Amino acid sequence: MREATAGTGLAVARHRRRIEVESDAGERLSCIAPRRLDVLCGDRVRWRRERDGTCVVAKTLPRETLLTRIDNRGRAEPVAANLTQLVAVVAAAPAPDWLLLDRYLAAAELMGIEAAVVYNKRDLAPQPGRLADYARIGYAVVSTSVADGTGLEALARLLARGRSALVGQSGVGKSSLLNALVGDGVQAVGALAAKGRHGRHTTTTAVLHGLPGGGEIVDMPGVRQYAPYLGGTADVARGFRELAPYLGRCRFADCRHRAEPDCAVKAAVESGAVTPERYESYLKLVEVAGPARRE
Ligand code: GDP
Ligand code: ZN
Repeated sequence: MREATAGTGLAVARHRRRIEVESDAGERLSCIAPRRLDVLCGDRVRWRRERDGTCVVAKTLPRETLLTRIDNRGRAEPVAANLTQLVAVVAAAPAPDWLLLDRYLAAAELMGIEAAVVYNKRDLAPQPGRLADYARIGYAVVSTSVADGTGLEALARLLARGRSALVGQSGVGKSSLLNALVGDGVQAVGALAAKGRHGRHTTTTAVLHGLPGGGEIVDMPGVRQYAPYLGGTADVARGFRELAPYLGRCRFADCRHRAEPDCAVKAAVESGAVTPERYESYLKLVEVAGPARRE
């Protein structure tokens, strides 16, 4: 049988211009992407095999979702395509950075994807009471320990629902969780893609791992500790799902829910419907958000 000369597939690993594509027929293709194409892990692509056998990514197909982070010049930079879930990891140690957690959750809301919270290193200290607030507003919260195996099955079930990225502070155990979930065999995909053209030691930018229990994880150093892009101040409120019933109910249509009179959000905080901690995060994130995004 002759090899297919073109088709569609999924970008499963990326190292600079070299993209590993899993064709729809299940074949693993090592492709080159032209400079003008920005191919991200998770992108659906159209590929083509040239006469000399080399494979080329001809185009990327439209994305359902796009994860962007803020690069070191303060600009939004695309990092992963077609994620369906962001899994924010906090741990017994280092102490949870609640603002960062709220920032990840807000980013997921604004992307229109699911989000969940993992509390890792459960073996060191029990789950902090504050995590119950997240369950109360509808986020799945799973306690895990890579050290003793607690919660890993529950996490695998959570991840089976789609294509996720594990995000969170350095040291919370993201790599450890990934290794525990993926196992060594699947990790080899990344190692393969990391072998540079000139045999130099290079690191893979991004890899998509299939999980034994279903679902996929996008792993990339840039995503693990990223500062998500939140858009303008008006967008930030939409990043807090429990504020949804109150938005549009303030006296001023452009209320930022800070010191304005007759603010429905502040009233919800005062009545206890919204926790002061989450509201505090909202106020801090509004500070760092950029100017309003033009619709
Ligand atoms: P990452 O920076 O988020 O990828 O974190 P790592 O996976 O590199 O883990 C940081 C440190 O925490 C390592 O020394 C791990 O062995 C340790 N660690 C990870 N998960 C657990 C856990 O569940 N319990 C304990 N006690 N230590 C853990
Ligand atoms: Zn308001």
